[in-house]
Amino acid sequence: MLKNKKIMDCVIIGSGPAGYTAAIYAARADLHPVLFVGLQPGGQLTSTTKVDNYPGFPAGISGNELMENCQKQAERFNTIIIHKPITKVYFSDQKGGIHRVYMEDKENIIESKGIIIATGSSPKFLGMDKEKKFLGFGVSFCATCDGFFHKGKDVAVIGGGDTALEEASYLSKICRNVYLVVRKNYFRASKALQYRISKINNVNIFFCSQITKIMGDNFLEGIQIFNTKNKISQTILISGLFIAIGHSPNTKLFQNQLNLDERGYIVVEKGSTITNKPGVFAAGDVQDPTYRQAITSAGTGCMAALDLEKYLCLC
Ligand code: FAD
Repeated sequence: MLKNKKIMDCVIIGSGPAGYTAAIYAARADLHPVLFVGLQPGGQLTSTTKVDNYPGFPAGISGNELMENCQKQAERFNTIIIHKPITKVYFSDQKGGIHRVYMEDKENIIESKGIIIATGSSPKFLGMDKEKKFLGFGVSFCATCDGFFHKGKDVAVIGGGDTALEEASYLSKICRNVYLVVRKNYFRASKALQYRISKINNVNIFFCSQITKIMGDNFLEGIQIFNTKNKISQTILISGLFIAIGHSPNTKLFQNQLNLDERGYIVVEKGSTITNKPGVFAAGDVQDPTYRQAITSAGTGCMAALDLEKYLCLC
């Protein structure tokens, strides 16, 4: 099928909620999208057990099932799905220009007038034993997603930046106690957030503290932390551990091709998915340091397909 049509209208890089939503919209607009799945088919949601906040599933849905459904829906409209990562890109500067994406062997190139980047982001891990094992079983990267499962219980948040303080503030309204474990003896977060946190009674702050052990057999039961100043270790029993030490957008591939912000996120025009290269659009977590949700990713995936469709009409 690809051989018959040399220059495509729409190539989508990424198979998370943004990529598949873009594919569904682009396919239904007759743009015959080709979607590259990459190394994590289905994206980040496949690393979680249950998704409870995606509308349309009153009883919740497993992350894997949700993403399998998205794939089936994209295939129903004849999206071509390629189970390979893109290893190199060349984006034209010209309006109506032809972009190129390269597969592993570099000989294998697809040319397209339109590109939708939906490569997502990766949460930073602590690099500790049991951290990955307990993902979805007490360990989380998202308070908005998983806080509800710990209603009335004790949880810990790791980190001292804006995200960590936002997460702690959010959890303090749901949970009994929030232990905020900060490596340094100060916060990196904004002054406004620091002030907000200092006014919350059930947030207990541990400065100069590092997590040394994640405890539990089949699910998280507690953590051990070590105070680097007074050299004292202590155990905290918790049902939830929220790691908030940052996310890395998956944009290495685009470093010399697109405008990125200081954290590496793709810069898009406000209220759109338009990047600095004509015909190249970005959707989902890769351009969103703020919300990072499946539903917002799907929303911007839809926007990217509509932005591309409009762009192609004007070329
Ligand atoms: P991603 O889901 O990150 O997908 C990126 C895709 O790009 C992947 O398929 C990857 O293979 C592909 N890719 C990357 N590089 C390349 C390349 N070079 N070539 C080809 N493909 C490439 N959000 C919620 O709304 N509710 C939840 O309950 C929830 N739970 C979560 C639980 C966990 C453990 C995590 C980590 C996140 C959770 N989130 C949740 C956040 C949500 O998963 C993300 O916001 C969402 O998946 C982002 O979607 P995306 O399409 O932008 O990218």
